[in-house]
Amino acid sequence: MNIVIVGGGAGGAELATRLGHKYGKRKKHNITLIDRNNTHLWKPLLHEVASGSLDMGVDSLSYRAHAYNHHFRFKLGSLEAVDREAQEITLSRLVDEDGNEILPERKLPYDILVLALGSVTNDFGTPGVREHSIFLDAPKQAERFHRKLLNGLLKLNRSAMTDRDAAYRIAIVGGGATGVELSAELHHTFNTMKAYGLSELKTEQLKISLLEAGPRILPALPERISGSAHKELEELGVQVRTQTMVAEAQPNRFITKDGEAIEADILVWAAGVKVPDAFKGLAGLETNRINQWQVKGTLQTTEDEHIYAIGDCAACMMADGKQVPPRAQSAHQMATHAFKNICRQIEGKGELTDYVYKDYGSLVNLSRYSTVGSLMGSLTRGSMMIEGRIARFMYVSLYRMHQLALHGWFRTGLRMLSDSINKVIRPRLKLH
Ligand SMILES: Cc1cc2nc3c(=O)[nH]c(=O)nc-3n(C[C@H](O)[C@H](O)[C@H](O)COP(=O)(O)OP(=O)(O)OC[C@H]3O[C@@H](n4cnc5c(N)ncnc54)[C@H](O)[C@@H]3O)c2cc1C
Repeated sequence: MNIVIVGGGAGGAELATRLGHKYGKRKKHNITLIDRNNTHLWKPLLHEVASGSLDMGVDSLSYRAHAYNHHFRFKLGSLEAVDREAQEITLSRLVDEDGNEILPERKLPYDILVLALGSVTNDFGTPGVREHSIFLDAPKQAERFHRKLLNGLLKLNRSAMTDRDAAYRIAIVGGGATGVELSAELHHTFNTMKAYGLSELKTEQLKISLLEAGPRILPALPERISGSAHKELEELGVQVRTQTMVAEAQPNRFITKDGEAIEADILVWAAGVKVPDAFKGLAGLETNRINQWQVKGTLQTTEDEHIYAIGDCAACMMADGKQVPPRAQSAHQMATHAFKNICRQIEGKGELTDYVYKDYGSLVNLSRYSTVGSLMGSLTRGSMMIEGRIARFMYVSLYRMHQLALHGWFRTGLRMLSDSINKVIRPRLKLH
């Protein structure tokens, strides 16, 4: 049988690894993972790539090497179409940076197809946003942000010698976890750059505005956590503006609904997610208003039991009528559940079971300054707010769980060791 997984992110990479071990090793079934990138980086780390706290070159994982080690095949390509009758997908033509063809359009058969394509930032059709602001959807965008930031700080350092009022302004739309974490990371980067030769920089020259349309930042988290993060950011000098709806983006400025212009050297849009519009109506599969594929409890799409959807691109309803949130922990859990159901389906053993989302809480990391969040579960008897070292430990654990699912205990242990060594031998920031 051919089991094809499209999208090697938080969910897809874990699923391909598990299926590779179960079926690929003994060549029982062909497991193929497709991604449009050659390397995998856990998406919640993207803001650290943008700020330079993390180096893509060191921390990303080669799909080909991983596939070789875990008994599945990797194909570089971008999903274009799905033919449900022929049970075949089409990958678009692959071209290099100069537009030269590397690979022609390709067709691939499947018996089971898993859509794990993640999501992209939702600009809600706001005029000018796509043209003038940066999204943090993919490593390339985060790296572009990082280059822009370094150049900006270099320029500021130069002008600060003669102009005491010189400043570097960053405006971020979206007071969710991405916007909040990015604000704190940027503050840390700015201060660290002083140690790396940009000695004219003064903390007050960094002007970060975090713009949130709702009444508070981190709306998905309990109020006291959002209050604590708000206070922490303000102490760092971040201007947190709630009830500020951005209606338009122009070159180097956001315009609010009230007509106010918020000028900035870099505009970042980090508000909301959707599945790219290009996938709306793909193969007649049912989608919701943000183009996520509607799935049954089994994680099979409502229209086709040979097609599963997991992670951010899946619309999965919980018992309370709410939808499973687009988070790394959901993608991780869905990958585990889809693995069990796919095994049952292809082996014809037992009934497929329904996925139940387990909310273990949410954590927000304010760079090296603080971590805040809530833990959920029977031990905590509901929700418990945590802060500081324990919160930081739990935050890092989420990534370690992803690494464990990909590499197992031994290799994850080695990675942790190499991370510790890198902390000593490498600069604290990516400086180029
Ligand atoms: C900056 C940032 C910070 C975040 N922080 C947190 C956090 O702290 N905690 C948390 O729980 N969640 C966080 N999230 C959300 C979390 O990253 C996502 O919920 C999670 O990654 C979803 O996993 P996924 O497997 O569905 O998709 P992804 O991890 O996004 O993976 C999708 C994969 O599909 C590939 N792909 C896309 N389109 C195609 C195509 N057409 N053809 C082939 N391949 C394709 C992509 O290259 C990618 O590898 C954060 C997100 C961002 C952007």
